[in-house]
Amino acid sequence: MITPNRHYAELKDSYLFARIAQKVSDYQAHHPDAHLLRMGIGDVSLPLCDVVIEALHQAVDDQATKDRFQGYLPECGAPFLREAIAAHYHARGVELLPDEVFVSSGASDELGDILDLFDRSSSALVIEPAYPAYVDANVMAGRSIVHLPSNKSDGFLPEPSEEARADLIYLCSPNNPTGATFSRAQLQRWVDFANEHGSVILFDAAYEAFIEDSDLPHSIMEIEGAKTCAIEICSLSKTAGFTGTRLGYTVVPKALVRASMSLNDMWVRNRTTKTNGVSYVIQRGGAAVFTPEGQRQIQENLSYYKENARILMQALDRAGIWYCGGRNAPYVWLECPGGMRSWDFFDYLLNEAQIVGTPGEGFGACGEGYFRFSTFGGRVDTQEAARRLIALFS
Ligand code: PLP
Repeated sequence: MITPNRHYAELKDSYLFARIAQKVSDYQAHHPDAHLLRMGIGDVSLPLCDVVIEALHQAVDDQATKDRFQGYLPECGAPFLREAIAAHYHARGVELLPDEVFVSSGASDELGDILDLFDRSSSALVIEPAYPAYVDANVMAGRSIVHLPSNKSDGFLPEPSEEARADLIYLCSPNNPTGATFSRAQLQRWVDFANEHGSVILFDAAYEAFIEDSDLPHSIMEIEGAKTCAIEICSLSKTAGFTGTRLGYTVVPKALVRASMSLNDMWVRNRTTKTNGVSYVIQRGGAAVFTPEGQRQIQENLSYYKENARILMQALDRAGIWYCGGRNAPYVWLECPGGMRSWDFFDYLLNEAQIVGTPGEGFGACGEGYFRFSTFGGRVDTQEAARRLIALFS
């Protein structure tokens, strides 16, 4: 009989969102008229912007036209999109060749698939609290995980140290769930550390588009030495509302070599073996994001979420609740008032204010005592949540 991958049995139940859903549905069953404010959602609420919709329609028409019809595209991405993304980096002062950019179906797929490039005996460093997929993808592969807790005193941005030694290093900036964003100097120290130890950084830049402060890096590739130690995984999900449309990109520099093997060559080989790429229609929609008009239109949507963040932060200031994030990131990470535990605070907010958020403990043990609000909801509900928070805590 075939032996299944026994490491799946080592996965902890992904109980976080199931438990939230259960508690919410129990509450609703007892309070059918309550107006719940869902401040926990990690999905966007605004539709795709007009230039993307036009490009998608146009691409569908291409598929209906004999001389514009597209069959298989290059597995690593259509040249028009790889070039558009490389040009986008160029505008930020980062020089990439189009074939260092790989078009993907989103960051989640890549965060899991990219692990194929590394030996299963390699270890992975996860800074916690963390997006749960980093740990789970490595548990599935049987890798040993080094958990590095972060906290309020280090601003949830720990420095590299001997305890942080691992073959793979996950960095997520701006961070989900804490909203903390690495400065150039902090990121430089991680890059130097990775180069010194021969590690590879997997840099999750899913929220880079939320960065407002001009001195913060959007990409690890802006940091000197990054091309010899980092892979960047990015997504149009939150940048441009592609959560349901699915599109992302991954940067694997040609200078990234370990044990005389080029990780860029290996990733080409992986992609050409394991995928036939992203659909033509979606890639056309994605290319529209990188036009000047696309960049202008996505900023309108991003500004809407940023205004939600401002409204929530103002309410927390008035309520005297400590938080970080909210600026440069679509998540506000707050300390549960009165020393409450995350799940107790969840119940308290649900019962007293009909607000649903995400308990920090779900992102790792050191998230205990913290709570995450997302800013992806609608304006009216965000304003109402702010009003209720002020009323409850002031
Ligand atoms: N990385 C982080 C930190 C995320 O929060 C998410 C989604 O919430 C993803 C990756 C996945 O993004 P995608 O929709 O591109 O798969």
